[in-house]
Amino acid sequence: MDVRERIKNVAVLGAGLMGHGIAEVAAMAGYNVTMRDIKQEFIDRGMNMIKESLAKLEQKGKIKSADEVLSRIKTTVDLEEAVKDADLIIEAVPEVFEIKEEVFKECDKIAKPECIFASNTSTMKITDLAKVTSREDKFAGLHFFNPPVLMRLVEVIRGEKTSEETMQILVEFVKSIGKVPVRVEKDVPGFIVNRVQAPAGVLLMAILEKGIATPEEVDATVRRLGLPMGPFELMDYTGVDTFYNAMKYYAQTISPDYEPPEFLEKMVKENKLGRKTGQGWYDWSAGRPQIDSSKATDKINPMDFTFVEINEAVKLVEMGVATPEDIDTAVKLGLNRPFGPFELAKQFGDKQIAARLEELAKQFGKKIFEPTKTLKEGKLEELLKKGKAAEGEEKKGDEFKTIKIEKLEGGITKLILNRPDRLNTISPELMDELDKAITMLWNDKDTRVIVITGAGDRAFSAGADLTTLITHPFDFLEHNRKGERIFRRLSEIPKPVIAAINGYALGGGLEIAMSCDIRLAKKSAVIGLPEVGLGLLPGWSGTQRMVKLIGISRAMQLALTGERISAEEAEKWGLINKVFDDDKFEEEVMNYAKNIAERCAPISMALIKRLINKGGEVPMDVGLEWECTAAGLLFSTEDLREGISAFLRKEKPQFKGR
Ligand code: NAD
Repeated sequence: MDVRERIKNVAVLGAGLMGHGIAEVAAMAGYNVTMRDIKQEFIDRGMNMIKESLAKLEQKGKIKSADEVLSRIKTTVDLEEAVKDADLIIEAVPEVFEIKEEVFKECDKIAKPECIFASNTSTMKITDLAKVTSREDKFAGLHFFNPPVLMRLVEVIRGEKTSEETMQILVEFVKSIGKVPVRVEKDVPGFIVNRVQAPAGVLLMAILEKGIATPEEVDATVRRLGLPMGPFELMDYTGVDTFYNAMKYYAQTISPDYEPPEFLEKMVKENKLGRKTGQGWYDWSAGRPQIDSSKATDKINPMDFTFVEINEAVKLVEMGVATPEDIDTAVKLGLNRPFGPFELAKQFGDKQIAARLEELAKQFGKKIFEPTKTLKEGKLEELLKKGKAAEGEEKKGDEFKTIKIEKLEGGITKLILNRPDRLNTISPELMDELDKAITMLWNDKDTRVIVITGAGDRAFSAGADLTTLITHPFDFLEHNRKGERIFRRLSEIPKPVIAAINGYALGGGLEIAMSCDIRLAKKSAVIGLPEVGLGLLPGWSGTQRMVKLIGISRAMQLALTGERISAEEAEKWGLINKVFDDDKFEEEVMNYAKNIAERCAPISMALIKRLINKGGEVPMDVGLEWECTAAGLLFSTEDLREGISAFLRKEKPQFKGR
């Protein structure tokens, strides 16, 4: 479906915090936008924010021309003018049912029959809003996150009567504006992101109520895990009233367990709303509060927040609201977190989670903490599998997210480490996909030479993804072993592997490069083993391979000091085989690979590689014996006959790998 055929004109109702941002992203994506508010001054305020934001984007080179985007945004205070030609209406007026009801009723009279209505409501039931119109099938939720220009997630929410066609059009629309849509198949309170977080709010309040810890102790403890803000500071930042209103709403719609405690109500009444009023949990009168990190305590376990969130996420899947994968995506993008609840759940296993949830439910007397059926019965894995099967999402062998494989002419296969926005750092997923790719390419007859490089122009790979969640020393040991095994398999692929180092090759990134056979680098590339400065060590074979490549003295220098060196320095040391100028790098690498693929016999290369790698690990006598046997084996190949005959014919050999 081409969504741009179906939707050309978008009306955005409300020019406030959300409305102006939604109008901006839609116009940036090429849609004609009409933004409506009730007073010219509100429109002017919204337009000024759009102009400021576009100017910044233009400055950063993220858009070509702010004026061109602005030329697609019309504004009006007249509702009829705003919606009469609209193919899609996105409503972002205040979160008051009567206002929204009135707006949609009016729109229903004026808008074209095929026009789709979408509400950006954070809390209301889409079904209830749809009911005030005569087009319940063309009505859905489109829940953007603040600020819409930066936040990539949009929840697409199905009301009871929303048609599948409407859902699909909106999903495509969200993609077309460069955002990530997540389908919410039932309009439950809080949808996905807010809902998953909701019970953690109850736990925070319960901890204070029972006097277990103070807000500062909770925040200091949570920040110790590396999070930029603790939950109370964050609550102050977004508004204590927003939190209070959400709790009130959930108390009415989900469970009385959400009823906010009296002290929270008192704070709201006393206008202690956080940053915006200068006082909340903290004093903000002199700017951001200083959290005393020495207040971190073991009176609370930060994992408890994770467990109640996992529980809620599982409930959403049980209710058929969304798939586990979509919930993970939504939570990661909506809350800027490195992990989704299901990714975390896999680390702990359902038994541990269920046992702790039982304890929490008992300790705080909250039914919402009780483990959900799936967790209680130990069926989390089953649930995850079912979700995937239902979606037909089981990854095929050749589908990757964190790497990319490109088969080029002449038997060259490019394997791209593909996390450019994270400097191609190595996540567990990337490691698994690399492992899969190695298996795929091992016996792939079309591949003569493999070139590994990094996506983007900044990094080959800046090392291990340090946000990887590991909770036990033994798991870390196994994580290291796994990486070492995968890199070892990379070094054993029976064909030449070239590392094309196109930027940073640090830590784990350099360890991948060292597991390749030949290293070519861009002049501007930077090389190093920074682990020592992080309290780690070069774990994925770094301490061992480095010595073999450049000797003890220089290996010590790199690994012990964490010093970074240039590509040219590394070339002098013998760590890099060749350095090419930046502007010619890709071309030179391809020529280099092509030359090998054309001139060198595949079986010879496979055997030479093995002899050099393995021969170094055994006494010379044994290595020489292997060498003779391998030579004998080559004698029986067609390629040897072709090689010698082509040499005598003075022609290029045509090797078949036979
Ligand atoms: P806001 O108060 O900043 O903006 C609302 C705007 O709507 C105001 O400019 C107001 O003048 C205007 N308005 C009022 N009546 C109108 C009408 N009849 N027609 C057109 N405009 C009208 O509010 P906001 O934060 O932008 O929130 C808007 C919606 O988005 C709410 O439903 C809210 O729940 C939802 N939302 C907000 C956030 C957030 O972080 N602020 C995030 C997601 C969703």
